[in-house]
Amino acid sequence: MSHGDYDVVIIGTGPAGLGASFHLTEESPSLSILMVDREKICSGGLLNDCKQNYTYPIGFVVENWSRDEAERLLSQVEKHLQPVFKEKMNLEVYRRRAERIGVTLLDVRQAHVGTDRSRALIRRLMDELDSRGVHFALEREVTDVFDDSLGTRVVINGVETVCARKVVVAPGRKGFRFLQQVMERMGIDYVDNVVDVGVRLETTADNYSIVNDYYDPKFIFPDGVRTFCTNSGCARVVLERYQGFNLVNGHAFSEERAGNNLVNFALLKTIGLKDPVRSGQQMAVFLARLANEIGGGKPLMQRVGDFRMGKRSSAETFNEDLYSFFPSCPVTAGDLGLAVPAKIMRHIWAAMKKLDTIVPGILHPSTIMYYPEIKMYANKPAFLDRHFRVSGNVYMVGDGAGTSRGITAAWASGIRAAEGILRSLGRTVS
Ligand SMILES: Cc1cc2nc3c(=O)[nH]c(=O)nc-3n(C[C@H](O)[C@H](O)[C@H](O)COP(=O)(O)OP(=O)(O)OC[C@H]3O[C@@H](n4cnc5c(N)ncnc54)[C@H](O)[C@@H]3O)c2cc1C
Repeated sequence: MSHGDYDVVIIGTGPAGLGASFHLTEESPSLSILMVDREKICSGGLLNDCKQNYTYPIGFVVENWSRDEAERLLSQVEKHLQPVFKEKMNLEVYRRRAERIGVTLLDVRQAHVGTDRSRALIRRLMDELDSRGVHFALEREVTDVFDDSLGTRVVINGVETVCARKVVVAPGRKGFRFLQQVMERMGIDYVDNVVDVGVRLETTADNYSIVNDYYDPKFIFPDGVRTFCTNSGCARVVLERYQGFNLVNGHAFSEERAGNNLVNFALLKTIGLKDPVRSGQQMAVFLARLANEIGGGKPLMQRVGDFRMGKRSSAETFNEDLYSFFPSCPVTAGDLGLAVPAKIMRHIWAAMKKLDTIVPGILHPSTIMYYPEIKMYANKPAFLDRHFRVSGNVYMVGDGAGTSRGITAAWASGIRAAEGILRSLGRTVS
């Protein structure tokens, strides 16, 4: 079976791929475009929770983005995703408390769709592209990309070759390894020396009441620790499955769903690796496997009360009457101290104490710490231009290529690649 030749093939229907596709079809409707995804529906944050941040630098990798460039494109992202912004209250109160102890609270424009409503949003976006003539090959995996004297082409499911004038590779975080394989085979230099490692906390909304005032509060602590991806209303911790291990993550349903009075969010520490360790991904896999090994094939969870006493959590500790809620993601009750590197744990614990001073409650003994939450999005290909081009006709964008760390920045990255494609095809309007 053959899809024939296309002007542009886009690998991945996540926000980075969609951003590229919308921009290309808007600016040059006659281009033939194929979007390929190994899933039936894109599998990243657009589908899960779909919290959108519209304030630089949230989600942007600052070495690739200036404020002006991000803000120019965020207005285009907004046009397509049509966010309904959340109100914030009492920001100054929290800010003052934070500043006194060396913590920064960012003021971020946010919208939240919720996992139950995100499919409808994705459907609307795909239908719109469909009406513009974009072709889709879903549940089809791209296994290789070539850009050489024989032309530019992608290989689907190892057998089918599709030729293209330009290719946008946007496989997201889960496509991290695929991207590395393509870069290695194509001889594209890259570094992968940054990784975020941390815990996901789960507690009651009463113990983290700031969520009533600010949906996803962004606190920046010393030692490279920050809060990330806060979910409340009807919120759950979930497993992110990889080959050989599981990580934790979190999401929430829309405000239309009845609440479960739980909140979850991550505290992540950014680690920049220096010579001789060069792969953040390898370190992440190593840490994740260790935690899953100790957890008997699952991540670990420990109550703050047990952690403070220096003892492991057990099934019993999760059933005592002190604990007013059950874990939304029951993994293995255990001892994080055995799995989290000491320096990471120390810095995260220090951040938790500061957070408890700003929003009293998070150190309640019932709060659960889940581990590991790890973000492996730090492939940094050697880009040839500001449009994220990595070879004559191939562009790499989104979380997998380290140009973004969130939905809106991923979409903006796709637009930047599309602008480069239009220019190189001589289709620029201005
Ligand atoms: C559970 C979860 C919740 C999240 N919640 C949020 C949130 O609320 N807000 C936020 O800003 N960010 C969130 N994120 C992060 C968010 O997913 C990413 O920042 C964003 O989706 C990155 O966009 P992307 O287009 O680069 O990649 P993705 O959205 O991951 O899309 C990549 C697509 O490529 C496909 N793909 C991968 N490899 C191949 C291949 N070889 N062949 C064909 N297709 C392939 C995948 O199936 C996927 O659909 C969340 C992530 C997860 C995992």
